[in-house]
This record gives sequence, C-alpha cells and structure tokens, in this order.
Amino acid sequence: MLQKDESAPGPMEPNDGAPIAPTAAVPAAGGPTWRAPLASASRTGERAARLDAIADKVFLGERISPEEGLYLHDHADLLTLGMLADHVRWTKHPEPRVTYIVDRNINPTNVCITDCGFCAFYRRPKADGAYVLDREVLVEKVRETAELGGRQILMQGGHHPYLKTDWWADLISDLKGRFPRVNAHALSAPELDHLSRIEKRPVEDVIRDLIGAGLGSVPGAGAEMLVERVRKIIAPKKTSTDRWLEVHRKVHEAGLRSSATMMFGHVETAAERIEHLERVRALQDQTGGFTAFACWTMQPEGVPEQELYPQKATPDVYLRVQALARIYLDNVDNMQTSYVTQGMKMAQITLRYGCNDFGGTMLEENVVSAAGCSELEGIDVIERQIQSAGFEPRRRNSWYGIDDARHEGPEFPSRWEEATSPLALAGKGAGGPDQ
Ligand code: SF4
Repeated sequence: MLQKDESAPGPMEPNDGAPIAPTAAVPAAGGPTWRAPLASASRTGERAARLDAIADKVFLGERISPEEGLYLHDHADLLTLGMLADHVRWTKHPEPRVTYIVDRNINPTNVCITDCGFCAFYRRPKADGAYVLDREVLVEKVRETAELGGRQILMQGGHHPYLKTDWWADLISDLKGRFPRVNAHALSAPELDHLSRIEKRPVEDVIRDLIGAGLGSVPGAGAEMLVERVRKIIAPKKTSTDRWLEVHRKVHEAGLRSSATMMFGHVETAAERIEHLERVRALQDQTGGFTAFACWTMQPEGVPEQELYPQKATPDVYLRVQALARIYLDNVDNMQTSYVTQGMKMAQITLRYGCNDFGGTMLEENVVSAAGCSELEGIDVIERQIQSAGFEPRRRNSWYGIDDARHEGPEFPSRWEEATSPLALAGKGAGGPDQ
C-alpha cells in the first residue's frame, strides 16, 4: 500500500483521471508548462486512495486500464512509480541480472525522402553530405564487430528512393555468409513500408525476401508516437500508426520477433503517451512478437524544425514515463534503458525503474549523435555500470538468449527459428486474430 501524507498541493495540470482521448492543440506534456506531482500531493485524500487501489492491482499482477495508467502518470510521485515498476521488473526477472548485447549500429545510407522535422541525421538525395556506404566499408564494420564478439548489427537507414529490397537482401545475405554469428537486426517498420511502396508490392513479400536473405529480427524504430495527431505534426510523410502496427504484425506472422519503441517529450500529451502504450500492448496481446520495449526523450537540438519543439524533457519526465511503460506493458518481457540519450548515470537509475536490459553497445551511432547527443561507452564501462548498480551483467543475443561465458545454462533461443513468434507458432500467420 502507498504511504499517505496529509499535506501539500497537487500538480499544476492534472488530468484527474479524465477519459483518454486524443486532444488537439494542447501543451506538450514534456514541455516547460508541465510539472510533475509532488510526492506529498500524491499521498493525501482521495488521490491517495485511488493511487493505492491502482498500486494494489500492480502488486497483484493485474493489468491496469488506460485511465489508471493516465492517473498514475499524472498523480503518482516518481518514487512510487519507481517502486511499482521495480516490482514488475523483479516479478518478470527474479534473477539480479541485467543483459546487454554487443552490437554495432550501422546506417548504410542517410539519403531520405521522408523529411521528418525531428531528424538531424538524414540528407535529401544529392544534398551535401548524402551518402551510401560501399560494400567494402560495410563489411569492414561488421568484421570489426564480429572480432569484438559482436552478435548483432542494428542496420537502418534513410528512405532512399532507389535502394530496393534486392539491394538490402544482397547486403544481408553477403554479411550473413561472412559472419554467421552476427544477426542482422535490420530495417524498421517504416523502412519495410517504404520498400513495399516503391516496389508496389505487399510488405509481406518484402519481409519474406529479406528473411530468405538472412534477416533475423526487426528493430522497433520509427514508432515515435503511435498517435496520428502527433505524427501529422512531427512526421507527416512517415508510415502511419496503423501501418506501423500492421507491418510489425506481418513480421510476427512471418515468425520473426521485433522490438517496440517510443520517442516522447515533444508535442504529445500525457494521454497520448498512454495511447501509444495501449496500441503496443494490444498488438502484443494478439501476436506475442515483441521481445522488448525501449523509450527515450526527443533530442531537439539542431533538428530541422527545432522551433516546433519544447526544451529537452527533464530526467524526471524520462524516469516517470520509463517506469510507467514497465507497469503498463505487462505482456512485454524486457525493458531497455537508453544510455545513448540519457547518459550512463540515468541508465543506472532506470535499472530500479523497470529496466532489465542495457540495450546494445552500439559501437557506432549516427542518428542521435547527429542531434548532438551521444553517450557511447565501451563494453567494460557498461559492465562496470551494471555491476556498480548491484546487478550481474550478462551478454545476450537478439532474442534475449544469454550468450555469455559466465552463464551456466544453454544459450536459448540462439537463432530466430528458436524464438519464432507465438502468432506464427499458432499457425495464424495467414490470417491471425483481428486481421
Ligand atoms: S527519421 Fe528516418 S524516415 Fe525520418 S527523415 Fe530521418 S531517416 Fe528519414
């Protein structure tokens, strides 16, 4: 039960548990007008009673509703959110272990025609700085990763108007042949959708060809905020909410696992953050294909439409949403921290706010570093950070099988076929629930 404290006023802009509905033209939830509730304000009167009731559900392992999620977001103090998220984390992962993967982030091209206003990474075709990396360069990057014991390349790029599935399939197949232990975790849902559109064929055909070439899992990038009001402001040309979810459903139907993400702290409301989590949770109920969830705050410095955005969200907002994600997504096993955007110290703190995974070593990172934010660290530093937070570090593969000399059990799952999504295993690939 939550402790009660009979003092102090509430937050400046409470939602007071109002029904969740997308709202137009409201102040950004992570912006300077929003104030997190004081601990004392969440421990008095009716508010405390309602928070107690929601907390009891979490402790009993019951699912919370969108309205309850929003109430927690707006009224629970940060330490309470952390306590609840930590409870969920230990329930799912009773061992004092924090995983990470040795990987490299490779962006074969920065050429893009989608023009997201929050993206400092891309270049229009023929613009200064536009590039497509040569095959030899890409092979060398993967070789370096493999020699360091790397198990994954996170390979994503801009929406190039002329690089089609054949180009990606040939690259993945070549890399897989040379470095069979390095999984191609590649091509986010908007990229798969882009290939489908420029080739005028179903996305499931694109996915099938890429799996045939050696694609082993799909990253959760490009979700930003899965709310159309928000997407129309920050990325009007990008894959819609429904399509992002549909592409992941197709990936899961094909047997592959993928991850889910959320970028927040820009023009969205608190209710829209919950709406995003609800969309992810609902799809996961149907497919079981998401391995993990990761979220981070938008990095507004130097992006093309910087004037649209509030100042960078504070660490308090980041922790609050991270904890809430752990509480809300009761059907997603793993929560990744984001040390690249939040820094190592904050990443350590998130290990008690619901996170059980440190993400990838990202031996190279180009996207957020283009927005002036990059906290890349060596493998030994990551190990030390995990240990000094009181956990045992363990290396993993893309499917969260433990791949570490210190691990006594077998590495399982060790390849995508052993991690086949529950939807595909149930034989519902060609027309699963709620098609
Ligand atoms: S976020 Fe992706 S799709 Fe959007 S402009 Fe940047 S590279 Fe292109």
